[in-house]
Amino acid sequence: MINKIFGGSYQILRAMGVTLKYLFKKPVTNQFPDEPVLVYPRFRGRHVLKRHDNGLEKCIGCALCAAACPTQCIRVEAAENTEENRRSPGERYADVYEINMLRCIFCGYCAEACPTGAIVLEHDFALAEYDRWDAIYTQDRLLEPHEPKYIQIRDDEVFVPQESWRVTK
Ligand code: SF4
Ligand code: SF4
Repeated sequence: MINKIFGGSYQILRAMGVTLKYLFKKPVTNQFPDEPVLVYPRFRGRHVLKRHDNGLEKCIGCALCAAACPTQCIRVEAAENTEENRRSPGERYADVYEINMLRCIFCGYCAEACPTGAIVLEHDFALAEYDRWDAIYTQDRLLEPHEPKYIQIRDDEVFVPQESWRVTK
């Protein structure tokens, strides 16, 4: 009985010690979105449709991303480029490009399947919407530039191979 009382008291004091240890430390709470959030470089977040350096869209409307998507959340409708309306370097461009973010599982298959590197999962994670229809990201929202101020990419080492993984270089 005495042992139980002393044992229990010791555990309570030990737990209180942990609390006291952190009582006077600087809080780690991040005041999002006023303060930037550190994101790992390999983090897969919101999609961005990339452009070439001359401003033309990389997307050629081939719809391979839509074919590869396991949740069928990408919709692509292609159209022909003309001299008056040239949107991409190839023959065709994506006239309609939409992603339903409510269905996306951020697997990255779309980026893997894309032959031109047009669709990339970048670092934005702020995807909450008040209206479910706003979760359908249209082409004008997806196209570059998209560089939210609240994202900061970490530059520390993020992949350290472990001996137990048997990773060979
Ligand atoms: S990340 Fe995966 S689920 Fe999301 S759009 Fe791309 S292929 Fe589809
Ligand atoms: S994003 Fe890539 S795969 Fe998808 S339609 Fe455009 S070029 Fe094709």
